[in-house]
Amino acid sequence: MLKRLDHVAIVVRSIDETLKFWHESLGLPLSHVANEAGQHVKVAFLPLGESEVELLEPIGSNHSVARYLEKRGEGIHHLCFEVDHLDSAIAHLKRQGVQIIDENPYVTTTGNRAVFIHPRSAHGVLVELYEKPESK
Ligand code: ZN
Repeated sequence: MLKRLDHVAIVVRSIDETLKFWHESLGLPLSHVANEAGQHVKVAFLPLGESEVELLEPIGSNHSVARYLEKRGEGIHHLCFEVDHLDSAIAHLKRQGVQIIDENPYVTTTGNRAVFIHPRSAHGVLVELYEKPESK
């Protein structure tokens, strides 16, 4: 069902500050920075091989990523796996009793359809599933 690890997301206070480490010190390229208004975050993607590091900086203070940062500080936020068919993956997971957070898939600025699996169903890890537009 899962194709590959798409990205590891890290929540940070400031993307600009964090790029000094990931981009300048470690040398990962920066592919793009975008505002995911629907998720109340600014994101930066740093590709490496088949996968990417995603930096998440909350916009505003009253949404889930901002609350996460407030409570737990900077660190790994979620893992994202690519799937071929998101709807069938969701149906399969629901039959397994896995709790999906999003009622309906949301669409990222790069056109991926995505949902989150609740950490309660994933032994403490927030898991995101992506369906890339080209895999349809
Ligand atoms: Zn993500």
